[in-house]
Amino acid sequence: MNEIRCRGCGCPLDGGDVHYKARLDLCAAYDRMEITREDLECDPSEEIRQLLMKMADEDPQELTDEVFMRLVFDLCKQCKERLTKQFQQGGFFSGEEET
Ligand SMILES: [Zn+2]
Repeated sequence: MNEIRCRGCGCPLDGGDVHYKARLDLCAAYDRMEITREDLECDPSEEIRQLLMKMADEDPQELTDEVFMRLVFDLCKQCKERLTKQFQQGGFFSGEEET
């Protein structure tokens, strides 16, 4: 059986103490697409062909990660509170390290 460790501090989490499973889903968001009459009247074949050629050279995992990425990790109570504090105080969003 795999030992569960806190992703934040590395402490073992199998001692029966409460711990947390954090899940972060990062989904690509797009502006609402508006389709115009010009879009419907033009032939997108060449554009699609060029896009497929470009994608053929790229790593499939990187392409997938650009659209959707799920991060799952276990945290001890202290690290869960540290993470929560960073989000609540905006430290993560401002790019500042925690104080
Ligand atoms: Zn921890």
